[in-house]
Amino acid sequence: MNFFWHSLNCRRFTGLSAHVACRRFCTSQHKKMSRHTPAKRIEGLDKNVWVAFTSVAADPSVVNLSQGFPDIPPPSYIKEALAKAASVDLLNQYTRGFGHPSLVKALSQVYGKVCGREIDPFKEVLVTVGGYGSLFSTIQALVEVGDEVIIIEPFFDCYTTMVRMAGAKPVLIPLKPKSGKTTTSSADWHLDPDELASKFNSKTKAIIINTPNNPLGKIFTRDELQMIADLCVQHDTLCFSDEVYEWLIYKGHEHVKIATLPGMWDRTITIGSAGKTFSVTGWKLGWSVGPEHLVKHLQTVMQNTLYTCPTPLQEAVAQGFILNHKLMGQPECYFSSLAEELEPKRDRLAAILQEAGMAPIIPQGGYFMLVDVTPLNQDLSHMDDDGEAYDYKFIKWMIKEKKLAAIPVTAFVGDESKKQFEKYIRLCFIKKDSTLEAAGKILKNWNKI
Ligand code: PMP
Ligand code: GLN
Repeated sequence: MNFFWHSLNCRRFTGLSAHVACRRFCTSQHKKMSRHTPAKRIEGLDKNVWVAFTSVAADPSVVNLSQGFPDIPPPSYIKEALAKAASVDLLNQYTRGFGHPSLVKALSQVYGKVCGREIDPFKEVLVTVGGYGSLFSTIQALVEVGDEVIIIEPFFDCYTTMVRMAGAKPVLIPLKPKSGKTTTSSADWHLDPDELASKFNSKTKAIIINTPNNPLGKIFTRDELQMIADLCVQHDTLCFSDEVYEWLIYKGHEHVKIATLPGMWDRTITIGSAGKTFSVTGWKLGWSVGPEHLVKHLQTVMQNTLYTCPTPLQEAVAQGFILNHKLMGQPECYFSSLAEELEPKRDRLAAILQEAGMAPIIPQGGYFMLVDVTPLNQDLSHMDDDGEAYDYKFIKWMIKEKKLAAIPVTAFVGDESKKQFEKYIRLCFIKKDSTLEAAGKILKNWNKI
């Protein structure tokens, strides 16, 4: 602080010795304030799209297709399993820190079957608070200050912020639409293999992939994953594979786990979520699955941060997995039946958007759809120009004027890609038909209201 200039301008004190009083008072205030400044690791991370949009979208007069949560009910057996667990005294107390035994065992059975290998429930699985907790423990445990982490755009927004909190640098690479044209399917979006190869260097610690992708709905093909895996092996980097939408795969597509490709198990952490698997997003349970030599470091983060997760919730999710493990391959299995239920909803929403003159990108997986709002030609020049991207303004306007909520897609990209994505918004379709119809009504009457 330059006290000469400060005391000349400081109006707190008057009189001859004002500058002396000012020096004493303002130095102590300055010192106090500097102790109140945030840690460098969270500097610049204060804006968050979910904080900004979930409260406005919660207004009951708004049709909410924004945050990704179902308004259709979760399976009744999972709710019953929770009630039953809560009725057992011991299941209301702490359980094993790295995951309730029945849950880690059930997870190892299901993932063992999918991955075609034995998974040690106690050494190769960590249960934590949601997919978020799994991502956080993975990144905190394995990413070092000064490392680089490759992230594919559009990405689930917390990847870059968690990498920054670990003191590392996110290195972004965008998915691009085929020949730069308007696309109709998430399958038309690809990574440029040469561009991806150019992002790997001696500082690269890991690449984060997300398949099916939020927000685009792209499912990475086996060939695309093989190309990523080859680079990971060549550069000896880790892979964090966020597969929270792993069961939401629409007809004609296949979910491939990158951890099952040659040379990848030993370098991959796969992330899953009970919220997404059983339509219980409020339960906030997630897991990381991977080799013991990596998972043990995630366990170190867990034991020193949260220690354990709620026991009754873990027991109920375990029961859900035990039941569906037996049903795998049968139509009643929730792992496949939810996607069957959602596919007509996806197609209904796409048809509604097309009828309204918009160009949706049909997702191959997950429960979000991107739509290009350019054809609506909505003039927003009357809105404050505080440097916000078009999609943020569009959605604020749409919530207020049309009572329809969505999520701006520039929340999922870095600064350099904002122009490419600012005409897209993201809509969530894991909703009752009546909710989708209400959205359809708004879109059909777009120019009449
Ligand atoms: N990853 C992705 C891609 C997500 O969309 C979400 C939101 N469900 C998460 C992780 C976090 O999952 P959870 O709600 O279980 O914390
Ligand atoms: N994953 C959900 C979504 O993408 C919820 C994210 C959140 O609430 N932070 O909408």
